[in-house]
Amino acid sequence: MRSVLFTDLDGTLLDHHTYRHDAASGWLKRLQAAGVPVVINTSKTFHEVRALQEALEISAPFGVENGGAIYYPPGTASHLPDSQEGWSCEVLGADADTLLAFLEANQSTLQNTPLSTLSDREIVQKTGLRPEQAASAKTRHYSQPFLIQGGDLLRFKERAAQAGLGLLQGGRFWHLVAAHQNKGEVLRRVTAHYTRRWGEAPKSIALGDSANDFAMLDAADIAVLVARPDGGHAPYERAACRRMEGIGPVGWAEAIEQLAKEGAIDA
Ligand SMILES: [Mg+2]
Repeated sequence: MRSVLFTDLDGTLLDHHTYRHDAASGWLKRLQAAGVPVVINTSKTFHEVRALQEALEISAPFGVENGGAIYYPPGTASHLPDSQEGWSCEVLGADADTLLAFLEANQSTLQNTPLSTLSDREIVQKTGLRPEQAASAKTRHYSQPFLIQGGDLLRFKERAAQAGLGLLQGGRFWHLVAAHQNKGEVLRRVTAHYTRRWGEAPKSIALGDSANDFAMLDAADIAVLVARPDGGHAPYERAACRRMEGIGPVGWAEAIEQLAKEGAIDA
């Protein structure tokens, strides 16, 4: 049975602080050599993921902005109407301007700072990204990451639900998205894409570190949580989930090694 690997980026494949993936590099190469697609499923944006894909020499479909959209490599999903730099786009999420207006209109309930309103310098300070990465990080189309200064989170969540919106919690930011928008739908749709291409359903393996990964882990055949910088794990309920001791990319590599040894993945 063929496998498809779905991975979160920040805090999972990439170190939470340094954004480096050194610990996972060897296994990434082996997976690609073995023909296992590595599908990035992240809260990051199109340009951020493409830059990383080029550095890693990956050209698989990927999900951006917490399930906001899926991009398929040129020529592999040409029935889709929208595209960016030749990549076909399947839109699943909300409109970023609508989300930004909602955050601003509800400032009295929840004092918030949307990522897209920060200066590049402030983004560098708050995230540790490099200055040249800040513009790509704040160009949102289908989600609004934000920081909370204070207020009534429960009340804000109720209001969001009434407006057909939802909240997801990532490693650094909260994310305002459409209700039911999450990384799980990316996994289901990309798995269906490979089922059509290969004529058989692949095994799905998903790796994450935060609450915004839970829907993806729920939808996967094999779920993996890597440890967070404090050594603990996000409070995920599924008992069958593999909880790695390694933090971020170290735990990522441990999980792939374990799965390869068990014959659960060809690498
Ligand atoms: Mg993460």
